[in-house]
Amino acid sequence: MKLATARFDGATRVVRVDDAEGFARPLRARGAEIRTMLELIEGGAAAVQDAVADDERWPLDKVQFLAPIPRPRRNVFCVGKNYRAHALEFTRSGFDSSARTASDAIPGAPIVFTKVPECVIGPGDTIRYPGQATTQLDYEAELGVVIGKGGAFIAPEDAMAHVLGYTIINDVTARDRQARFKQWFLGKSLDTFCPMGPWITTADEFDVGSATVRCWVNGELRQNARTSDLIFDVPTLIATISEGLTLLPGDVIATGTPEGVGIGFDPPRFLQRGDVVSIEIDHLGRLENRVG
Ligand code: MG
Repeated sequence: MKLATARFDGATRVVRVDDAEGFARPLRARGAEIRTMLELIEGGAAAVQDAVADDERWPLDKVQFLAPIPRPRRNVFCVGKNYRAHALEFTRSGFDSSARTASDAIPGAPIVFTKVPECVIGPGDTIRYPGQATTQLDYEAELGVVIGKGGAFIAPEDAMAHVLGYTIINDVTARDRQARFKQWFLGKSLDTFCPMGPWITTADEFDVGSATVRCWVNGELRQNARTSDLIFDVPTLIATISEGLTLLPGDVIATGTPEGVGIGFDPPRFLQRGDVVSIEIDHLGRLENRVG
C-alpha cells in the first residue's frame, strides 16, 4: 500500500495512492477521517490494514503531495557515509571532518546525526538557498525508513517487524558548514533541508535489499546505486539506534547517500538557484524539488 498526505480541492487528508489507476483515495478508520499520518501510524499495523478508502477519487495529476509525515514528532535520524564509494569520495573531497585519509574513510560503526522536524518539506516545495549561511549547497538522495512499531534494544533479526514502510529523502547539506563544524548537524538541519516523499510504500511492497536509488540534477543523472550496497543495512541501523534509545512509531531514518553528490566531482558541482533535484527509488515514486 502507498500512503500519502495529500491536498486536493482545499482538503488535506491521509490517502491511499493507487498509481496504476491514477487516483488517490482518502482513508477512514472506523468511519472517521484519519487526520494525520502520525495518527494512522500510532494505531499500529492493524490500523493501517483496516483503514478503508473513501469512494472519493482524487486524480493524481491534480493532487498536491505533502511530505508523508509533514512534521515528524521529533528529529529525523540520518546515517552518514553508509555507501562505500560515497564514503571514499567524501573523504577524498576534503570536506569530511570525520576522516582525512582513505584508510579511515569507511566507518566501523554507523555515523548517526539528526535533522530537525521543521526542515521537512514535501515534493514540489522549494529548497531555499540560505545564501548568508552557505555557498556550498549539495544534494543527497536517500532511502528513508519509517518506523511503525516502536521499541528499544531491537535485535537485528526482529528489526523488520518494526518497519512500517519506506520513502525518499533528500538530505540537503551545506558542505562548508559540515566541514567547519565537527558535528554535522549545523550543515544538515537548515530550513527546507529535508525534502521527503511523495509517499510511504509499506514494507510488504518494497524489496529493501535490492532497490535502485537514482538522482538527477536538471535532468543529468548524478547518483545511481543499489540499496544492497549499504555498509550498514536497515536491521543493523535499527538495532544500533535503538540501543537504549526507544524508537517511536513515526520515527524516520535516512539511511545514507550513495556516490555522486556534488562534492564527489572535481571541481565540486554545488547546487545553484533554479536547479531541480529529482530522486527516484523503485516503488517509492519520484521526489522533485527546485532550489530557490
Ligand atoms: Mg546523508
